[in-house]
Amino acid sequence: MAHTLLKGGIPLLWHDRSTDPQDVLIAAGKIAAIGPDLAAPGAEVVDVSGMIVAPGLVDTHTHLWQAVLRGLATGAWGNEYFALVPPLARYLSSRDLNTALYLGALELLDHGVTCVLDYEFAMQSRDLGRAALDGLQAAGIRAILAGDLKNRYSVVEKSFVDDRDRRNGIEWLHGQATALTSIAVALDDIQVTPPETTADVIGWARSLGVPMTFHDNEVGAIATLERIGVLGADILPVHCNYANDADLRALASVGGTISLQPEAESFSGNRSHSVIERARAHGIDLALGVDGPALARLSILPQLRLLYFLQRQLDGARERAAGRLPITRGEGSPTLSARYVAQTGSKLGAEAIGLGDRIGSIEVGYDADLIVLDPQPFGRAHGDPATHLVLYSSEAEIRHVLVAGEFRKRDGRLVGVDYATLAGLGAGAKERILAAAGDAVPPADLEP
Ligand SMILES: [Zn+2]
Repeated sequence: MAHTLLKGGIPLLWHDRSTDPQDVLIAAGKIAAIGPDLAAPGAEVVDVSGMIVAPGLVDTHTHLWQAVLRGLATGAWGNEYFALVPPLARYLSSRDLNTALYLGALELLDHGVTCVLDYEFAMQSRDLGRAALDGLQAAGIRAILAGDLKNRYSVVEKSFVDDRDRRNGIEWLHGQATALTSIAVALDDIQVTPPETTADVIGWARSLGVPMTFHDNEVGAIATLERIGVLGADILPVHCNYANDADLRALASVGGTISLQPEAESFSGNRSHSVIERARAHGIDLALGVDGPALARLSILPQLRLLYFLQRQLDGARERAAGRLPITRGEGSPTLSARYVAQTGSKLGAEAIGLGDRIGSIEVGYDADLIVLDPQPFGRAHGDPATHLVLYSSEAEIRHVLVAGEFRKRDGRLVGVDYATLAGLGAGAKERILAAAGDAVPPADLEP
């Protein structure tokens, strides 16, 4: 595999806040060297002077099947989303799931996200699973496809017949793993599932050596996992807006992480964001995801920015409520630095899905999942490049995106993609899904 030298950029390193230019040498898909003026005979030299070289962003929780339903749920309030969007999952054919995951993965790559955990509850048969993997692999993203054990949205197209069949299907998909695509298990809601079933499923997933994740929308779910003796850092709880202190103590005791979706958790008005500060007080790290493309753009940059500002607003509200005015910098205030928030979208996300020793950091020996941002002509934000990433960057600045050392976006354009056909692909899938659903799902005529 060819060598590539990213020359003269400013790497965003987790052990060093320097803004001195350093080259990054990529060989055989991995970061081979980092340093000023590297000699790399035979390597293709890509001039990135003045640009920021950052770890590829990591989305730890998204439902990519909705990528062809952009904006369908932006007007939903309270629990309206649940009646409107998830039931549509049963109307996806293999062809449409393939299209959705292909387009969704391209949108993520275009926006600098090089790795995604796709919580795929539309994937309810082997054919759908194969179609999902094909879509992700065609896009070239690094992906973990989480098979859902719920069967809440059994599909119109031939579906798994029971839990045994579903497990066999997920094991079969696990056998199709490649260097870039692998499998995870999405657990059913913990508080409504018999504990022995939960323990059995978790034991099975661990026998496969795959990570697990679940929607944590119930008080006490994490503590239940601890009580039945199965809680581990290989289970990623998502949202956790209703987690209580017993849940957080339990999660902290196993070194677990929480996956947050700041936009999706804000839009419905239902959820408390106090978990951000409470989790950090317990020493629990945070990771990020988009959640539903039907209500938010497939990009991690807006999630970084919202997390940062949301928590500053909450910190200020706490100080004002305590009468500590004027607000001063003190212990735990503000809760999050821009540098920490930058890590939630990369290093901590990678760790949360079991890839922390391979991606999320620019370190020698790590896979070369990298993004290059060009802050010109308006300039790089003062100081730490993490500040620029979190507060000043935009998708328009993302010049190059590499996955395992291969360019997926180069000079601002996705590589190997026929732009002329993309829009038609998505529109066709959306039309078929909505036509198949007919009157079975409420019309999406909510005004944002
Ligand atoms: Zn979700």
